[in-house]
Amino acid sequence: MPEKPYDHNQIELKWHARWQDATFYKAEENSTRPKYYVLEMLPYPSGTLHIGHIRVYSIGDALARYKWMRGFNVLHPMGWDAFGLPAENAAIVNQRHPRDWTLQNIAAMKKTHRRFGFSYDWDREVSTCEPEYYRWNQWFFLKMFERGMAYRKEALVNWCPKCCTVLANEQVVNGCCWRHEDTPVEQRALEQWFLRITQYADELLRDIARLEGGWPERVLTMQRNWIGRSEGTEADFRLAGTGDPIRVFTTRVDTIFGATCVILAPEHPLAARLLDGEGQARAKAMVDARAAKDPGDIVKEGFYTGHCAINPYNGENVPVWIGNFVVMTYGTGAIMAVPAHDERDFEFCTKYGIPIRPVIRPADGKLTPLEEMRTAFTEDGVVENSGEWSGLPSAEARRRMNAKAESEGFGRAAVTFRIKDWGISRQRYWGTPIPVIHCPACGVVPVPESDLPVVLPLNVQFTGKGRSPLEEVPEFVNVNCPMCGGAARRETDTMDTFVDSSWYFYRYCDPHNSRMPFDPASIAYWFEIDQYIGGVEHAILHLIYSRFFTKMMRDIGLVRDSEPVRRLFTQGMVIAEGAKMSKSKGNVVGADSLADRYGADTARLFILFAGPPEKEVDWRDERAEGIYRFLGRVYRFATRNLERARAGGPGEPAADRRVLRKLHQTIRKITEDFESRWHFNTSISGIMELVNDLYAEEPRLSGDTVAEALVKLTLLLGPFAPYLAQEIWEELGHATPVFRERWPAFDAELAKEDLAEIVVQVNGKLRSHIHAAFGTSGDETKSRALEDPKIRSLIAGKQIVKVIVVPDKLVNIVVKG
Ligand SMILES: [Zn+2]
Ligand SMILES: [Zn+2]
Repeated sequence: MPEKPYDHNQIELKWHARWQDATFYKAEENSTRPKYYVLEMLPYPSGTLHIGHIRVYSIGDALARYKWMRGFNVLHPMGWDAFGLPAENAAIVNQRHPRDWTLQNIAAMKKTHRRFGFSYDWDREVSTCEPEYYRWNQWFFLKMFERGMAYRKEALVNWCPKCCTVLANEQVVNGCCWRHEDTPVEQRALEQWFLRITQYADELLRDIARLEGGWPERVLTMQRNWIGRSEGTEADFRLAGTGDPIRVFTTRVDTIFGATCVILAPEHPLAARLLDGEGQARAKAMVDARAAKDPGDIVKEGFYTGHCAINPYNGENVPVWIGNFVVMTYGTGAIMAVPAHDERDFEFCTKYGIPIRPVIRPADGKLTPLEEMRTAFTEDGVVENSGEWSGLPSAEARRRMNAKAESEGFGRAAVTFRIKDWGISRQRYWGTPIPVIHCPACGVVPVPESDLPVVLPLNVQFTGKGRSPLEEVPEFVNVNCPMCGGAARRETDTMDTFVDSSWYFYRYCDPHNSRMPFDPASIAYWFEIDQYIGGVEHAILHLIYSRFFTKMMRDIGLVRDSEPVRRLFTQGMVIAEGAKMSKSKGNVVGADSLADRYGADTARLFILFAGPPEKEVDWRDERAEGIYRFLGRVYRFATRNLERARAGGPGEPAADRRVLRKLHQTIRKITEDFESRWHFNTSISGIMELVNDLYAEEPRLSGDTVAEALVKLTLLLGPFAPYLAQEIWEELGHATPVFRERWPAFDAELAKEDLAEIVVQVNGKLRSHIHAAFGTSGDETKSRALEDPKIRSLIAGKQIVKVIVVPDKLVNIVVKG
């Protein structure tokens, strides 16, 4: 039978059409097979998929298909993180409704998903901008509100004085409004909604231990740092004259005799009272200048308030300063500066000529004299010049000084977390309405559960002005109070979209439930997620918020587990022709253009072949062409050998043995890759070597060997290049989907190399190789090594002290002289 040329278009279009209404990707609700839940992070519907998306989905898809072939009941869903700012910006710029824009983008991306043949159970598709979904955000909010876990407090927002609107951090560009590049953003205090994630701070930290091994270590480190638990002391300095307390938090109370000033955050409530008009303006300018700047980029600045505070441990008066690097949201919003023993304080006090006073010496050394001090000494040591605590080791001093604070009533031992309560209020339109009503008589009244969902109105003007577009919709804003029936106003803030993505993966298990967010029974079956795949940029925020949501849902009785994700994989980035992809550079490799040029199979195979999945890979056109040629080789070999595989016929036994050995070695290798490190790049190069061997031995193979090789090669290719594998599978006479076949087992006997390659060393240095049948005895191996010509000349005239033999692997000859 003549071979056929590889026409990816014809093959992919054919199967794409046939799979359009296929039901074989459906996860089964009641199955006796073991379950496997594989999930890729849901995308934001920006409108197009690019090669970076294709990488994540190709990894997940290969795994899903492999697990099906291993007999698992696989759940592999997909959805859309559909609320968010870009849709609203598009509405302002293009006068298109965010909903139209979003739905059109979803349709386009879904089409690309289908074109690539990803194995999603589309019946479970979830879109977070639909009331069927976001009503449950509101329901969770009410549950948290009932428990005091959702609360209101004043917080700063970015404000553009020209737009008269609140800006998201992403809308602040170089400290200015995204639409008014010459208008600096101001900070304004607004009442905002918060979720009390800090209630779980300890547990979020503790449970990280459960994730060890299943999550990348660097993600766990980032989470530990984000939660940022520190043990220390809260102590009250007192304002000289009035006696007002200034509470500071420090982890180093043992250094408090070295405190030479107290520094307040510019937005500290006391600052407003201490400062005159000019000082208040300076403080406000500091807060505004901090907007949207990385804390690391802030140049430390401050000024003296003209007031002093009294150190509670020694009664000393120290000046009170305002400092732009002190923030209200960490600790108490006030610090004591100990320049001799803290880098940041050293920098600040040196700049402003504030005295430096060393009070800690190294355990085995002396206090650094002031004139020799170039940097702070930040280690623990022995306390000096500190009254009754002088001579104590730092840790001991801290214990005793905490006790003193407690007994005297000016402080206590305390634990602080860096993690803050989660501010979820957004003064935006395209998000979940917060289900609350403000009544002049009753105050804040939650919307009754039976009135959910609070539907986002569609008839809205997008001017980019005003606090939120929702405020201009009277039929939304004006309501009757659910408690007293009087006229009231609906909350117009919407929720942070991270609320949507904090629990979406639970909804996939029961996506059409209209009575509950999901049935706990289906969660009990499908959870934990066996494998979650996504970008490391979500190491904090999403991956902490979703852990928090799980614990909250456990506490309201919805789920049993305390953690949602057993294993997490973070794939590496994709760059293009050596450069980072970006819209502005115009070098984004779009998924559809890849499918047009090379086909979906080539794009998928390339991205998996280009490197280990955790590493960065570089898309290069010429390498993609190499992959395309390889798939062509596979197809041509298959089609020209179909008849031979069917008819059988003799071959050379040695050639058969070589090919079968390679085949079973390849099966073993790919199976191991799937079960351990997912180094699909080596899996695919294994398949390439196998194909090379098939070409080399082709004329000498028996029909049976050709048949076995063809069947197994096709099955191995199934998770990586599903279209081509399916096409060959059909040519081989099968009507079933490849990925519902059993994964081929390898025969260890067949996979065995005939000869072991044995390393021969002299005095531990590699000198030669010999070959011997596997299982050759130690004595036999030793004498063969000593007879090796290279070795004989090397050891001639020397005394053999000892010969170490590791059968099938190594001989080391130790010689003297
Ligand atoms: Zn503006
Ligand atoms: Zn009322």
